[in-house]
Amino acid sequence: MATDVKKLIIIGSGPSGYTAALYAARANLSPVVYAGYQHGGQLTLTTDVENFPGFAEGIQGPELMSNMRAQAERFGAELRDRDVTAVDFSQRPFRVTTHVKPFSAEDDEVEWADAVIVATGASAMWLGIPGEEQYRGYGVSSCATCDGFFFRNKRMVVVGGGDVALEEAIFLSRFASELTVIHRRDTLRASKAMQQRALNNPKIRFIWDTVVEEALGEKHPQTGAARVTGVRVRNVKTGEESVIPTEALFVAIGHRPNTHIFHGQIPLDERGYAVAQDAEGTATAVEGVFVAGDVRDYRYRQAVTAAADGCKAAMDVEKWLEERGEADVDPTGEVYAGLMHEPATEPSVEPAAGLVGEAVTSQA
Ligand code: NAP
Repeated sequence: MATDVKKLIIIGSGPSGYTAALYAARANLSPVVYAGYQHGGQLTLTTDVENFPGFAEGIQGPELMSNMRAQAERFGAELRDRDVTAVDFSQRPFRVTTHVKPFSAEDDEVEWADAVIVATGASAMWLGIPGEEQYRGYGVSSCATCDGFFFRNKRMVVVGGGDVALEEAIFLSRFASELTVIHRRDTLRASKAMQQRALNNPKIRFIWDTVVEEALGEKHPQTGAARVTGVRVRNVKTGEESVIPTEALFVAIGHRPNTHIFHGQIPLDERGYAVAQDAEGTATAVEGVFVAGDVRDYRYRQAVTAAADGCKAAMDVEKWLEERGEADVDPTGEVYAGLMHEPATEPSVEPAAGLVGEAVTSQA
């Protein structure tokens, strides 16, 4: 039975989870964040991030995530690097079971909360071929929007025949010197409209009935920097093998939302994505459970959109708890201070260096 009930548990530690933690901590919700054994989300698998606002020179993915984590902790979010193995949302307080070591039930810990934010993200599906992991972040990518720019005027290959593969191919064709889509069948899965756009694009060449069997690459002899040089492919009808030179391999064969522990607990769509009650909000049909980031968004899947969703979820939780009078939430109204444009109050004593203005810098 629940003894110590937390106001809020956040499950997940990508941009949505950490942003939710930051906002919730600043709103006095004292959130407990189950960050996972391998915390930090998809951005920990990337190198340069050039499209997250605020970093004029770009930032490394792992550094961005560790900054987000530190920022949430600074305001009192409690980070626990444990994997959530089960949830029970059938009644409140909600029950969340975790353990610290993967594949071990030794360390089960149960925690209870009035509200939960599910921010477990999604995982790109990979081909599972040699070289794919080795060159990930160095030419092998699952995100054209994130990484296409690094390969401008270079040859690029996209694998897949769905809407995302074609969308990425069309986007990348603006930068690429040559753009090749490799698909394992001779018919595309993508919508007719998308097919038409891609097939009519003079910069996009299709290779049909073909699978990529290896990502080829090399290390620079002086700097040690890795780079992709090509892909080894096989025609599934003829068995013929060949090498296609390329500097980048974009794998676009689908994403899998990380929702396996939420089956039967919150509404999921036919692909397994968590469903919020309306497109703008983060509340689910289970009162007190909110969803944010890639776990409910297959469309945008950007760090900045996930972060925005995390912010919304924390604000939705705060409002929900407040309406129910269930928690002593944000007595200062600080979380909304930036929206209200309240004037800064004069400090009664000389503030420490670096702290001036801190009280009014609440909204990003
Ligand atoms: P998807 O529709 O499932 O397509 C995945 C593609 O990858 C398929 O062509 C599939 O081949 C191929 N594939 C899967 N596993 C593979 C493997 N191991 N090796 C080689 N190829 C493999 O996924 P998606 O393109 O990511 O789209 C996800 C969902 O979002 C879809 O429902 C899509 O319609 C939707 N979406 C819609 C829009 C839009 O309407 N504008 C935009 C983006 C996404 P097969 O075809 O042979 O199975």
